[in-house]
Amino acid sequence: MSGSRDRAKDFVVGDVDNRNQPSTVVIVGFSAAGLAVAETLRAEGFSGSLKIIGDEHDLPYDRPPLSKIGLVDGPLRSALALRPPEVIASLDAELHLGTRAVSLDIDHRSVGLASGLQVDFDSLVITTGVKPRSLPQLSTAANVHTLRNVEHADALHTALADVAESSGTALIIGAGVLGCEIAASARAIGVETLMVDPTTLPSARQFGPWIGERLVGLHEGMGVDLRLGAQVDKMVIENDLVTSVTLTSGETFDVALVVLAVGSTPNVEWLQSSGLGLSNGVDGNQWNEAAPQVYAAGDVASWVDRDGIRTRAEDKTHAIDQGRFVARRILGQPAPFERQGYFWSDQHGIRIQAVGECSGADEIEVIWSDPSRDRALVAYGSSGRLTGIAGWACPRQMLTVRRHMKFPANWDRALSELRQAIN
Ligand SMILES: Cc1cc2nc3c(=O)[nH]c(=O)nc-3n(C[C@H](O)[C@H](O)[C@H](O)COP(=O)(O)OP(=O)(O)OC[C@H]3O[C@@H](n4cnc5c(N)ncnc54)[C@H](O)[C@@H]3O)c2cc1C
Repeated sequence: MSGSRDRAKDFVVGDVDNRNQPSTVVIVGFSAAGLAVAETLRAEGFSGSLKIIGDEHDLPYDRPPLSKIGLVDGPLRSALALRPPEVIASLDAELHLGTRAVSLDIDHRSVGLASGLQVDFDSLVITTGVKPRSLPQLSTAANVHTLRNVEHADALHTALADVAESSGTALIIGAGVLGCEIAASARAIGVETLMVDPTTLPSARQFGPWIGERLVGLHEGMGVDLRLGAQVDKMVIENDLVTSVTLTSGETFDVALVVLAVGSTPNVEWLQSSGLGLSNGVDGNQWNEAAPQVYAAGDVASWVDRDGIRTRAEDKTHAIDQGRFVARRILGQPAPFERQGYFWSDQHGIRIQAVGECSGADEIEVIWSDPSRDRALVAYGSSGRLTGIAGWACPRQMLTVRRHMKFPANWDRALSELRQAIN
């Protein structure tokens, strides 16, 4: 639910070509991006062999509900499925589920599986996503949770219900979007919730400072004990359980459960000896190609944007868009990848959305609001350019923004056009 941007040092410009269709495409990682690749290949007429490797046993499912309704009611697997089994079957793909890819031999065009099987490819798409960052000193503590998959959500839902019953406190480390959503879900089931973050505004990287300030009020109003500008300094671990924490502010709290929401790292260990560039996930070029006919898409993939910046994004809409793009590229599409950044979050019943880039702004302006219903649209920009727009509880207006806007845009002109479109 984040991402990163670095100036790309070395990237190879992919050929603009009309290549022959590969006879075998292998996809490693079966979730939002992997499914988008498979569906688009078939929809665009790819009739060759399709093989999909995924280390989870479930068919692709939706992760965003895991931190929202999935923690409040428990994750319902059938409701999370991205497609019914018959639609997956219609892809006519050879599925290797519950099995990890452990190696990639680019010269011999083969992926090695944990089972010992070798799967050969003409084109390969890597969509192995990310995993939660953890803290080594907490690896043995039984009441420390992270959240990435349905098993994690099951375990956290049960643990939060126990904490609510025993009137204990849940500590959430990290007030990014994931931490904030978990805090909101914990409060919804009556858990005393303490959230700690060294920054001063929650979720500001995705939604910008204006929304970050609103979120402080929202979380505090809903009973989250928010400690910003603070970090955990010391922890007491007894019988493999974290029982209390002392913050850098000097305050000490008894805790019954800890959730780490401190970011994620790309799943690239299995590629260490492949020769692929792995500086920021799998390093692709403007076409998401990391080596000839080896592509990456979704949370694990970095690519070079039109400003020459190596960029990686972690959000669902992006994973699907990039998966679709890569499928079309395999079939010969010449244009480079263009990200249409869009992100949403649900916290305490408020839908928050963002398009474009909302952090690092030197201009911030509320361009539409409805104070009686606590709704607003805010524009962020820098150097005279509009870079992003965030919405607080106004999905209809955000739909208009998404239809009208391409970022960056001239600040004055774009804001005047947007105001006309919205009012
Ligand atoms: C709790 C939660 C809430 C979220 N909320 C939002 C939200 O509100 N809005 C939003 O836009 N985004 C949200 N996201 C992010 C969104 O879910 C991801 O961006 C999206 O799932 C990325 O899809 P992906 O296919 O790239 O990777 P993933 O969904 O991570 O899938 C990668 C798959 O590859 C598998 N894999 C990894 N290594 C291997 C290997 N070696 N061999 C085989 N398989 C492997 C993984 O187990 C996984 O099944 C949320 C994510 C989480 C976890």
